[in-house]
Amino acid sequence: MISADLILKGGIVITMDGSRRILQDGAVVVTGNSITFVGDTAEAMARYEAPRVLDCSGHVIMPGLIDAHGHGGHSFTRFVVKETNNWMPAMTHMYQHYVDDEFWYVEGKLQAMQRLRAGVTTGVCVMGSQPRCDTAGPALANAKGYAEVGIRDIVCTGPQHVPWPHNFSRWENGKRIRKAVTFEEVCESLEEVISTLNHTNDEKTLAYVTPFGMVTSLNPSGATPLSELTQLTDHDIRQAQEMRRIADKYHTRIHTDCFGGMVKLASQRPDCMLLGPDVHLQHCTNLADEEIEIFARSGAHAGVAPYWSNAPVEKMLAAGINVVITTDGPGDNCDMDMFMAMRMFAINYRRDADNSYFLPYEKVLEMGTINAAKAIGLDHMIGSLEPGKRADIITVDVTTPRLSPLYNVVHALILSGLGSDVDNVVMNGQLLMENRKVPHVDLKALCAKAQEVSDEVNARIGFEKFADRKPALWGKNYIPDEELFDLEWQRRDGGHY
Ligand SMILES: [Zn+2]
Repeated sequence: MISADLILKGGIVITMDGSRRILQDGAVVVTGNSITFVGDTAEAMARYEAPRVLDCSGHVIMPGLIDAHGHGGHSFTRFVVKETNNWMPAMTHMYQHYVDDEFWYVEGKLQAMQRLRAGVTTGVCVMGSQPRCDTAGPALANAKGYAEVGIRDIVCTGPQHVPWPHNFSRWENGKRIRKAVTFEEVCESLEEVISTLNHTNDEKTLAYVTPFGMVTSLNPSGATPLSELTQLTDHDIRQAQEMRRIADKYHTRIHTDCFGGMVKLASQRPDCMLLGPDVHLQHCTNLADEEIEIFARSGAHAGVAPYWSNAPVEKMLAAGINVVITTDGPGDNCDMDMFMAMRMFAINYRRDADNSYFLPYEKVLEMGTINAAKAIGLDHMIGSLEPGKRADIITVDVTTPRLSPLYNVVHALILSGLGSDVDNVVMNGQLLMENRKVPHVDLKALCAKAQEVSDEVNARIGFEKFADRKPALWGKNYIPDEELFDLEWQRRDGGHY
């Protein structure tokens, strides 16, 4: 008998391997942080012995889900100012001026727990809305929170949009300390983040270069018509060159937002485009046909959240672009639940394509597992259950009313699965969650701490009134104007919007 550390046996194994095998009475054997065997239960039990054997009958055994784009901070702000048109600027202002490193640590730990409990074993975490990178503090605090939970954290940070310098505030002992920070200083902090975090914690912590947008001179949150494009600015070129320099220096990858117009404008200087096989770009809203061609030729990957329904997903896939499903959470719509994101994605993009035969559920699952691993450059390590890969494994209870009676298991998971159906999570070989219990994290204490820190920040910035609206709007069809956020106050307070 060969010694191993853990055997998951007797489940329906969705391998996502090269031939996409699904084993009806399957087992996965784990040794150290890696998978050593995937096959039939009988063979596994004949060849391997382990101190822990998990009976997975009535369960699917599958790779942990991969969320290639989400945001640090949003767990604490998703229910605040949400009903106004100004959620983005309000939250950005809060992140830039009213939070401290404890905020990023507690929030990171809370959202890592959300992901773990939803079967997401690897998640991209952009620090804030526009990334906050005036110091390395927020990114390091987020990574600490994630590391205490134990899932894979890809910390993404970098420069904000123009103009520079940017105003930031630190809070120390209840005091606000303001500082104007230059583009160069942010790049220095970014180098500190990457050199400190990337490839640490047994590859559970990674750090990618993430400017807010791939081009700085265009609308950072929506498409620009090609007819309105002029020239790349000096700062567009400078940012692209600097991001590429830092990524190359530390052998790491680039992640950023992309909207229609940006690819076309960036193509004026192919030598400094933030495109290529080591780049994944989020949103891709309203990319023009010629931009899709440039994108595809570069080998870059695309992350698309289900509610951004203007990404030309059908054309991008037809052009051969690796499009993957992301939550963009936890601030919008699908929280951090990749099952929900996959379902919404299929529904929304079939509707957009006006074709109910578009996007088979098998393809959808690829877009949340193995293809997502490719998008973030980790498909050699995660995204499928295969010997030699890291043991990032989840089990899903399929004996629930929502998933019964069971026929095609992939269809059932996409059509009706939820993160809360995940009951065991093995992460990097360790059984982090068993029967939905995570013994190394005191969840009640964490939620209480999250409430305390969030209340404190809302009081500091004066957002209590947006956190709990009074009077409530029962019976109304519209939200009254007076609830809208005061952008003028924000400008006077040092904001950029
Ligand atoms: Zn986003």
